[in-house]
Amino acid sequence: MDSQRTTVALFGGTFDPFHNGHLRMAVEVMEALGPPRVVLLPAHHPPHKPRQPVSDARHRIAMTEAAVAGLPGIEVSDREIRREGPSYSLLTVLEFRRAEPSADLVFVVGADAFAEVSAWHRYEELLAACDFVLLPRPGTDGVPRPPSGIRIEKEEPHCYSWKGNSFRLPGGRRLFCPSLPTLDISSRAIREKVRTGKCIRGLVPQEVERYIREHGLYIDPGEETRP
Ligand code: ATP
Repeated sequence: MDSQRTTVALFGGTFDPFHNGHLRMAVEVMEALGPPRVVLLPAHHPPHKPRQPVSDARHRIAMTEAAVAGLPGIEVSDREIRREGPSYSLLTVLEFRRAEPSADLVFVVGADAFAEVSAWHRYEELLAACDFVLLPRPGTDGVPRPPSGIRIEKEEPHCYSWKGNSFRLPGGRRLFCPSLPTLDISSRAIREKVRTGKCIRGLVPQEVERYIREHGLYIDPGEETRP
């Protein structure tokens, strides 16, 4: 990779709330890239969670910003929120490419989300638009399980400064699968704990815990009726 170019990692999510799994993975990605720059992108409306009511964007942005405040190399962008409509990842990648043509973009995604990538808006273009970093989630061990129809070819490891595996995607882009610890934390479990009066210490940064309490988020018993 050209040493004059910067690598920018795009890490999108609903972040409802932003939790320690997101935070730790953002730090791992930030430290593996050089020079580091990780952009966290709270979605306006996650297209793959159509029935899920999400907390107001201003809360999700505020929690994400509070979680990474003072961490150099990690920033929060409201680009998807400002764009409104479904937060299609391809549009985000294309916007960043236009805005920062000299950057090498990598798209950071959990293994659970990647397993459903063929349902994403114009996914073939997305897979050909930038490299990907796959984050392990419980039950996946960082092993890519691409949806049927998407062929990936294992290649010599080339994974920034991580140990891990590397694959070629159909359009020639890379899929990096770093060996990172699996962190069994999900926003859904956190919402459920808050709703049932359980403690969420250790699952979210303390600033996020305080924010949830002060704004009374996730206590509505009707909210978590999602499939
Ligand atoms: P929910 O439980 O509401 O479905 P979530 O915890 O999966 O939410 P999202 O905001 O949907 O959080 O996740 C954004 C991105 O971060 C996705 O690509 C997801 O796979 C990934 N991710 C979420 N939690 C973790 C975690 N603990 N470890 C690694 N990746 C994660």
